[in-house]
Amino acid sequence: MAESTLSIVVPIYNEEANIAELSRRLAQLSFPEMKSVEFILVNDGSRDQSLSMLQDLANKDPRFKIIDLSRNFGHQLAITAGMNEATGDACVVMDGDLQDPPETVPELVAKWKEGYDIVYAVREKRDGESWFKLATAKLFYRLLQRITNVEIPVDTGDFRLIDRKVLDVLKEMPEKHRFIRGMVAWSGFRSAPVYYHREKRFAGATKYTFRKMLTFSLHGITSFSTYPLKIVSGLGFVVSLIGFLYLFYVIGLAIFTDETVQGWASLMVIVLFLGGVQLLSLGVIGEYLGRINEEVKGRPNYIIREKINF
Ligand code: UDP
Ligand code: MG
Repeated sequence: MAESTLSIVVPIYNEEANIAELSRRLAQLSFPEMKSVEFILVNDGSRDQSLSMLQDLANKDPRFKIIDLSRNFGHQLAITAGMNEATGDACVVMDGDLQDPPETVPELVAKWKEGYDIVYAVREKRDGESWFKLATAKLFYRLLQRITNVEIPVDTGDFRLIDRKVLDVLKEMPEKHRFIRGMVAWSGFRSAPVYYHREKRFAGATKYTFRKMLTFSLHGITSFSTYPLKIVSGLGFVVSLIGFLYLFYVIGLAIFTDETVQGWASLMVIVLFLGGVQLLSLGVIGEYLGRINEEVKGRPNYIIREKINF
């Protein structure tokens, strides 16, 4: 194992204010037991000075390798691009805003040396996140755990170390809508947690808007569970049952009494309710269908404009 190599993948999207500090702290890390370390920084279509800063970095220090994507492909695909180019026996993925402290990486490596194939970093404390983000994240992971059969550890992001074995499995999963933390858990290899203190963003603002977070959660659910489809069929069953019982009631009234059911209001309620249920169901099916459509086209997941120092 003394001969092993390490890759550290960092996605970069408009992080000009963080790159200097990030590279300084990365370059300072020492891994006495490693033969070599490479830092793969993936520029995900930044519109600020990030790319030229990365280029400078690569010119000065050959350990820094740059992948420049042709446009913004999103966090998960940027990570994927980096992992696909990684050559290490182990690969660490971490954010570029220093929320994942580089100093935790040696701890991940130590755990890996103990024989674990996946070492995920669990945030013990989270600074500088809104209560809304914390609450929705918690709710989402609870929900996901209930409706899927993969054990995705709670309170982890994508900050983790994976062994070459896991990396090779991920490479065989060509899906476009990637929920990497789920895919890693799905691979089922031996895993262990390492606890860390998640800091505030060093500089700049989050690139994950509420909308992006929502889409990301939907990817997570649809790529690991068909539970929403089951809810839809369950709903259909319940509504039919109610309709059926109501039918008996109406027929009973007609046969055994002189009353007739009052018309307009009840009809309207039923029509609107049914219409709503049907549209909702179509929407759920549509979510899956849209994703099938995007996968089936088989376009490349990302496009690389340039690679530096590879
Ligand atoms: N990121 C990216 N592409 C995107 C959005 C984000 O490469 O479209 C990178 C970003 O530069 C950062 C990491 O993904 O290194 C995490 O993003 P961010 O810190 O904005 O997310 P948060 O920590 O707020 O969830
Ligand atoms: Mg962040």
